[in-house]
Amino acid sequence: MPKSALSVTPMMAQYLEIKADYPDALLFYRMGDFYEMFFDDAVAAADALDIALTKRGKHRGAEVPMCGVPVQAADGYLQTLIRRGFRVAVCEQLETPEQARARGSKSVVKRDVTRVISPGTVTEDSLLVARQHSFLCAFSEIRGHSAVSWADITTGDFRVQQCLRVSLGPMLARLAPREVLISEAIDDSLRSVIEEAGASATVLSRASFDSASADSKLRELFRVASLEGFGFFGKSELSAMGAIVDYLELTQKGSFPRLRRPVRENSSDTMQIDASTRRNLELTRSLSGDRTGSLLASVDRTVTSAGARMLEHRLASPSTRVETIERRLDSVDFFHASGELARACRKLLRPVPDMGRALNRLSLRRGGPRDVAAIRDGLRQADMIAAEFPKDGLPAEVAEAVANLRGHGELQTCLDAALVPDPPFLARDGGFVAPGHDPDLDAARDLRDGGRRVISGLQEKYRDLSGIASLKVRHNNVLGYFVETPSRYADAMLGAPLSETFIHRQTTANSLRFTTRELSQLETGILEAAGQALEIELRIFDALSDQVVSGAESVAEAADALAAIDLAASFADLAAEENWVRPSVFSDRRFRIRAGRHPVVEAALRKGSSGSFVANDCDLSGEDGRECSIWLVTGPNMAGKSTFLRQNALILLLTQTGSFVPAESAEIGIATQLFSRVGASDDLARGRSTFMVEMVETAAILNRADESAFVILDEIGRGTATYDGLSIAWATLEYLHEVKRCRTMFATHYHELTALETKLENLSNATVAVREWKGEIVFLHEVRQGAADRSYGVQVARLAGLPEGVIERATSVLDALERGEQQGGNRVEAALTGLPLFENAPVATAPAQSVERSPVIRKLRDVHPDEFTPRDALDLIYELKALLDP
Ligand code: ATP
Repeated sequence: MPKSALSVTPMMAQYLEIKADYPDALLFYRMGDFYEMFFDDAVAAADALDIALTKRGKHRGAEVPMCGVPVQAADGYLQTLIRRGFRVAVCEQLETPEQARARGSKSVVKRDVTRVISPGTVTEDSLLVARQHSFLCAFSEIRGHSAVSWADITTGDFRVQQCLRVSLGPMLARLAPREVLISEAIDDSLRSVIEEAGASATVLSRASFDSASADSKLRELFRVASLEGFGFFGKSELSAMGAIVDYLELTQKGSFPRLRRPVRENSSDTMQIDASTRRNLELTRSLSGDRTGSLLASVDRTVTSAGARMLEHRLASPSTRVETIERRLDSVDFFHASGELARACRKLLRPVPDMGRALNRLSLRRGGPRDVAAIRDGLRQADMIAAEFPKDGLPAEVAEAVANLRGHGELQTCLDAALVPDPPFLARDGGFVAPGHDPDLDAARDLRDGGRRVISGLQEKYRDLSGIASLKVRHNNVLGYFVETPSRYADAMLGAPLSETFIHRQTTANSLRFTTRELSQLETGILEAAGQALEIELRIFDALSDQVVSGAESVAEAADALAAIDLAASFADLAAEENWVRPSVFSDRRFRIRAGRHPVVEAALRKGSSGSFVANDCDLSGEDGRECSIWLVTGPNMAGKSTFLRQNALILLLTQTGSFVPAESAEIGIATQLFSRVGASDDLARGRSTFMVEMVETAAILNRADESAFVILDEIGRGTATYDGLSIAWATLEYLHEVKRCRTMFATHYHELTALETKLENLSNATVAVREWKGEIVFLHEVRQGAADRSYGVQVARLAGLPEGVIERATSVLDALERGEQQGGNRVEAALTGLPLFENAPVATAPAQSVERSPVIRKLRDVHPDEFTPRDALDLIYELKALLDP
C-alpha cells in the first residue's frame, strides 16, 4: 500500500487524539456549523438519530463513515441520544480558522472537549422534564458496607444513604435516576439491576471511588476543614459522594455545578417500597407506563415545576417519622382552613419560574439573561407571597418557608434595575440591560442608535442628490449598509457627477449597490458603538450572574420554600375539592379507615360518568394497636377486591407523604415497609413465567417484611394448578399470621381459605357484596364482614360477551363439578359422565353469536311450521312477544 494511503491528515490525527480520551462517548466534533461524527460513532449515531451516514475520505486505506448534525439543531439530536442512554462529548473549536491560519498555513483549528453530556448531567431545559428530578446516582461498596449517593445537578440537591446491595433495586425505583455510576471493581450483576430501573450504568475507575481522596475532595468543594458538620459519613458513603464529584469534574470540564451541602439520609426515615410495589400501585406511572392514570397524576395540583418535583419526591419516599408527617399535615391543614390565603398563594405561584434550575445553569456558566430574569421574577413573587401571610399562628413548616421567602431585597432591587422586563435567551444577543443602569452602555447605545437614525435620514438626502425616487438605503450581513438603485439607473449612477459620491460595490440581477464615504464612516461608528455596548452588556451579565451565584444558598432556600408552599397549598386544594380528611397518625400499628375511597378509580368513575364510588371501611387494628389483623377478602370477580386492597395501601402511603386522604376518617400507624403483589403477571422479557414472577415476589415479602410492614396480596397462587395454588396461598397466609404478624390484606378466589378464620385468631373474613337479579349479577362494591359464597365467574364471563353456548356449557360443568364435590365423589368424573358435549354447536361467526343469544331466535329454531295449526301459530306469536318483553 502506498505510504500516502496510510498517512493520517492533521485533522484526523487531532480527532483521533481527542477521541482516544472519550472511548465511551460519542464525540461531537465541531466543524464550522456542524458537529461531525466519524467511524463507529457515526454508525451508532446515524442509526439512533435516523440520519444519513456518509463517508469522508479514507483512513488507513478504509473509508471513514461520517454523519453530522447542524449546531443550531443540536439540542434535539442530543435529546434523542441522551434518552437512548448515550453519552456525548462535545468538542468545540477553541479558535477561529483565521487564528489557526495565523499560526501557520497548515495548522488545524484548536479543538477540545468542553463538556460531556450524559443522561445524569444534562442541564438544558430542552433536555429535561420540568416536573421531574434528574438524578445522577453512584453506588459504592467497601468491605461489606455499601451506599448510594445522588445529586440533581439541575438544582444542586446532594444526598447519600447507606444501602445494602439487595436494596439497590428498591432504592433506584424510588429515585428513578437517569444514570448510575459504579466502580470497575464491582461485578457485572449490578448492571442489570441498574438497567431494570431504567437508568444507564456508567463504569468509573477505582480511583474515582477512593474514599480517602473523596474526603479531601468534598472538604475542598464545600470549603470546610471537616465534613463532620454535615453528618458522620462512613467509607462507602464518602466513596459514593466522591464518585459523583469526580464524575462531575470529568464531565463538566472546569465549570463545576453548584452542589448543596450533602445531606445524609437515614434508610429508616423513609418507607421502603420496592419496584414491583411501585409498579403495582401505579404510584408515579400507570401500568402502561404513562404518568396519566397514576396516583401522582391524580393528586398533582401543584402549579410550579419545583412544587411538582417536590411532590414526586415525597410520594416516592414517604416518611416514617411521625413528627415529619405531622409537620407536613399541619401545613396542609393550615391552607385547608385558610382557603382565601391558599387561593391567593396559588395565583401568585403560577407565574413563578424555575428558580432552582436557572440558578444552577448560572453557576455552571451555561445560563443566559432569561435565567437571571427568572431569579428576579421568582424573588419578586416570593416577596408578594410572603406578604400574604399573617405574622403569627403559622405552622412550623409554613413559618420557616415564609421566612425564607423574605430577605432578598438587595439582590432583587439590583436585578430590577439592571434587566429589561423580557430579556432574550442568549447573552450574546444583547439588549437585556435596562436603560439607565449603566451610563457607558447608554452612551454607546445612543451612538449606535444615533448613527442608525442618521442613516435612515440619508435615504432622503441621496434621493434628492441623485433624483432617483426609488433609491433605498438598506442593510445586509455581507455588505453592511448600502445604497440600492434599480439597474435602469446604471448610467446615471456610474457616471459623473454621481460616481464621485456613490462607490459601486455590487451588481445584482435587478439592481446596483453602492456605498458612500459617509455611510461607511457612520457604519463603522455604529459597529464600534454596538460592539462596545455588547461588551458592556456581557460584563454586566457576568457581574449579575456572579451576584446571583454568590447568594445561591439563600436563593435556593427561597426556591425550596416556594415549592413547599405550592405543595402544601395544592394538597389543601385537593382535600377541599375531593373531600379528603386529615389522617391521625400514630407510632403503633393501628389501621382504621372509615369510608375510604380509591383516589384514581373514584376520579375515573366520575370522569366516565359510570356511577359513583362506593366508600368502604377497613380496620386492621388489633387491640390497642399492639396486635394487628389480617383481612382475607373474597368476592366475585369484578366486585372490587383489588380496588379495596389498593385504596387502603394508597391511603397509608398518602398519609406518610403528608397528604390528607380520601376517607371520612383515618387512624394510621406508621408502616416502615409497603408491599403489594398481584398474582399472575408475566415477565417474559426477563425470562420468568407468570408463576415464577409471582413466587419470587411473594418470597421477597415473606423474607423481608417486618412487624411494621403493610402487605397487600392479591390472588397469590393463581398462576398454577388449583390445589398447588391453594396450598401456597394457605401456607403464605399462615406464615404472615404466625411469623410476620404484620398488617395484611389478602384477596383470593380460594374460598377454602375462609375456613382459616376459625383457626387463626387475628384473621377476619371480608367480602365484597353482589346481588343476583334474574340470573344477572349486580355489583354493589360494598365490603362486609364474612365470606363470599361463590365467585360468579360465569356471570362475569357473560358480561364480558363470551358466546352464550360457552356460558351455558360452563354453567353445566360448574354444576356438575359442585355436585360431584358435594357427593364426595370425583368432581371431574361427575362432570365427564353427567354431561353431553355441545350439541350441534353452530360454527358461529361474530354476528351469529349475538343473534344466537336471543331467546326469540332459539325458540324459532325449535318450531316446525309445517305441523302448525293457525291456532298454534297465533299462540307462538304471543309466546315470542312475551319473550321479547318479559
Ligand atoms: P377480579 O377478581 O376480576 O380481579 P376485583 O374484585 O379485583 O376483580 P376490581 O378490579 O377491584 O375487582 O374492580 C373492578 C371494577 O369495579 C373497577 O374497575 C371499578 O370500576 C369498579 N369498582 C371497584 N370498586 C368500586 C367501588 N368501591 N365503587 C365503585 N366501583 C368500584
